[in-house]
Amino acid sequence: MGLVVQKYGGSSVADAEGIKRVAKRIVDAKKNGHQVVVVVSAMGDTTDELIDLAEQVSPMPTGREFDMLLTAGERISMALLAMAIKNLGHEAQSFTGSQAGVITDSVHNKARIIDVTPGRIRTALDEGNIAIVAGFQGVSADSKDITTLGRGGSDTTAVALAAALDAEVCEIYTDVDGVFTADPRVVKKARKIDWISSEDMLELAASGSKVLLHRCVEYARRYNIPIHVRSSFSGLRGTWVSNEKPEGDAQVEHAIISGVAHDVSEAKVTVVGVPDKPGEAAAIFRAIADAEINIDMIVQNVSAASTGLTDISFTLPKTEGSKAIDALEKSKTAIGFESLRYDDQIGKISLVGAGMKTNPGVTADFFKALSDAGVNIELISTSEIRISVVTRQDDVNEAVRAVHTAFGLDSDSDEAVVYGGTGR
Ligand code: ADP
Ligand code: ASP
Ligand code: MG
Repeated sequence: MGLVVQKYGGSSVADAEGIKRVAKRIVDAKKNGHQVVVVVSAMGDTTDELIDLAEQVSPMPTGREFDMLLTAGERISMALLAMAIKNLGHEAQSFTGSQAGVITDSVHNKARIIDVTPGRIRTALDEGNIAIVAGFQGVSADSKDITTLGRGGSDTTAVALAAALDAEVCEIYTDVDGVFTADPRVVKKARKIDWISSEDMLELAASGSKVLLHRCVEYARRYNIPIHVRSSFSGLRGTWVSNEKPEGDAQVEHAIISGVAHDVSEAKVTVVGVPDKPGEAAAIFRAIADAEINIDMIVQNVSAASTGLTDISFTLPKTEGSKAIDALEKSKTAIGFESLRYDDQIGKISLVGAGMKTNPGVTADFFKALSDAGVNIELISTSEIRISVVTRQDDVNEAVRAVHTAFGLDSDSDEAVVYGGTGR
């Protein structure tokens, strides 16, 4: 039997009991003859608590020290997990991201993995150990400083190690039974998906389905690593995510619509009174890009004939809001806009499915479901296999449920189980 990489999220190792339960699962995989590499997240909501703490001593913590602080969370869980495994009579060694050879660029708080050199992990495995790796962290090739990969980054650590070690599969253990047609915390009638293409999963993850991080899916797609998302609390088969539909798997069907995602972590910036002439949008988004901010949707209004001025709105992560406002304020005279508006009470709902390419009615049905639910649409964006709208944040849950029902995604059997976690 080959090598497996297993990743356990924070809710799976929330307390000592959780760590002991997970340790048993890991030992079972080892007993079944696998070489086992485990990637572990910080316990429960530790990362959020560390962020809260940092905000109490500094209003906008960023950079090197913030990463030093946050990586402490995963160090705690990796050492405790190794101890729990040893207590079951098996050998285990824990490694920080840097020790495991996770090499990144130097962008603190959202570093990208540029190489994985898992020499020490290989040695540990060859000596009969279970290797435990702290997720979400790496070391910068240039500065040699410790970096973090962005929230939810342990998923990426797991897939990157699976690729570097040529693992059979990357198992992502979490607090629900797999990937569902919507977040089970919002839609009780959400259905578990048995298999989903990397393409559809990428869009769901990028649209806010945090069960998998989009960078992790991107990585898995590029290196052709099959992912199995499943619960660490049950023994059930979860969801397989892969580039190609598995042959001969009776449980698998290719759905027209894969699911509904939602995201309340974004805010909207409106640049008011922009002169309607070439170069203005370029100047605005250059200022944003120079501040290393990624944006999501963009909408430009038709300019009013009388003034020749227009408005440009865009969405971005709330965590980048004040940085974006500062960057634009600095370039206000050069760009020549009138004012800025900032709105963090928005939410985004997205419908995802490869079947959209060939089913022209999907967009109309989506808008109809939203209007029947009395939800007003503020922005719209589409890709070949996704349609997204921005609404008021208060309307999001209702809108997700309405769309889920309208597209016939509601399960007619059991309610989706959420085993743990706080949803934070
Ligand atoms: P972990 O701590 O294991 O990394 P996360 O909280 O990051 O767990 O991800 C699991 C959560 O993702 C679930 O508890 C669920 O609320 C949320 N989620 C959002 N969309 C989906 C979806 N489509 N299918 C399953 N879970 C989803
Ligand atoms: N602990 C980190 C976070 O909460 C990374 C992870 O859990 O994937 O974002
Ligand atoms: Mg996660």
